[in-house]
Amino acid sequence: MSEWKPDIALLARFDDAEWLAVEKHFCGRLMAFVARRVRDVQAREDIVQDAFLGAVRGIEGFDPAYTFEQYLFGICKNRTIDHLRRKKALTLGAPDDSADEPGRTLEDLAVDDETPSGIVRQKDLEETGTRMLQELLRAWVEETWKQNEFVRLMVVEALFSAGWRNRDTWQRFELRDETAVAGIKFRALKRLRDLAQERDAEQRVLPLLSAAVDAGEGFHIDVRQAWRDGRVSCPARHWIARSLSGALEAGPKNFLAFHIDEVGCEYCRANLDDLSRLENSAEIEAVVARLSASTLQLLHSKTRPS
Ligand SMILES: [Zn+2]
Repeated sequence: MSEWKPDIALLARFDDAEWLAVEKHFCGRLMAFVARRVRDVQAREDIVQDAFLGAVRGIEGFDPAYTFEQYLFGICKNRTIDHLRRKKALTLGAPDDSADEPGRTLEDLAVDDETPSGIVRQKDLEETGTRMLQELLRAWVEETWKQNEFVRLMVVEALFSAGWRNRDTWQRFELRDETAVAGIKFRALKRLRDLAQERDAEQRVLPLLSAAVDAGEGFHIDVRQAWRDGRVSCPARHWIARSLSGALEAGPKNFLAFHIDEVGCEYCRANLDDLSRLENSAEIEAVVARLSASTLQLLHSKTRPS
């Protein structure tokens, strides 16, 4: 039940068939992602079109530390922000498109990527540290998932990703008391340190991790941001499909509901929307057919210079 993944080498050679397959596989979830923020149906299609063209243009810089879906969602999210910004500029004073959805304001979506030139080097170090931290977190999530420890997983996600307080976390998961939450957090951090030691003989990650966890001086590695951007706890799409079909046991099922509804993972939400769409898979096919013309045009301009 493993999910289809495109061949990046083929994509980098601007292969028509591979790119059309990408559109066919990912169009539905991108449309679902944009649909949560943009009401205008034509604008949604334009944004998704733009995202696919951006993906073609940027494919040579694809970073294998991330999945292709992350790459695509990242571009789509930026295009959505651009659209909302333009719209906000045009209709200054009027409520923007997403204003009726609590917690989905432009500010929530906006990513601050201003980088003053003086701190570029430190930025590089922070990026390396963030990436290593994401690997560790992902390993921890995988291990915890395999051990069927879904309450532990939810507690740590609540603390690390959603920024819940111990008190709320304890009550939500009906734990003994606040110290039970502190204990879970303590053991998770200890396990992360052990994992860091196992994986990183040169000990490059530990100081960075400690700095991140203790919010020490110099480094600003945001654990919450790392968790969310790295999508360290996002299950593969087939888990969401199984949850919808009712074929999932309580543990992973509860985790998925928590991850999507309470933590508010926008990417898994888009996959869920896409998978649970009943009426309009034909509609998505029609969108794919319309988009592919522009994509092919761009691909041919890349491979057949006139
Ligand atoms: Zn997710």
